[in-house]
Amino acid sequence: MRSVRSIRAGAEALRGHCPFCLIVEGEASADVVHSSDRVLAFRDTNPQAPVHILLIPKEHVTSVRELGEGQASMLVELLRAATHLARAEGIDQHGWRLVTNVGADAGQSVPHLHFHLLGGRRMRWPPG
Ligand code: AMP
Ligand code: ZN
Repeated sequence: MRSVRSIRAGAEALRGHCPFCLIVEGEASADVVHSSDRVLAFRDTNPQAPVHILLIPKEHVTSVRELGEGQASMLVELLRAATHLARAEGIDQHGWRLVTNVGADAGQSVPHLHFHLLGGRRMRWPPG
């Protein structure tokens, strides 16, 4: 099993190359719709619905698989930001979806934890 130090070193090494860390650091542009100490939200560049926003922790975490107890309050903050944004985007009454992909089979393409907030159209279930 990898030590906490080795996991942290891996996250640090990734930080310089992770596209969402670059957005957090202000080194890549994004259409930011919400920012707090620990959470950032910005519009997806390839929207799959009229409203498609990504919510991420500012700290690099690869996916929910890597979340630790210390990140519980960040996760609550992120979920509350999603609720706030759904209201602000006018999709609260008709409904919306919050989804996170973990790993290859789910189609995760960016290795930085993100939740997709989708709304503004009727969704199908089960997804793809
Ligand atoms: P996933 O496939 O779940 O990893 O989702 C990654 C999402 O990030 C996709 O919907 C992409 O369109 C989106 N995406 C990738 N790069 C950027 C970027 N620089 N700014 C905004 N959205 C992005
Ligand atoms: Zn990152």
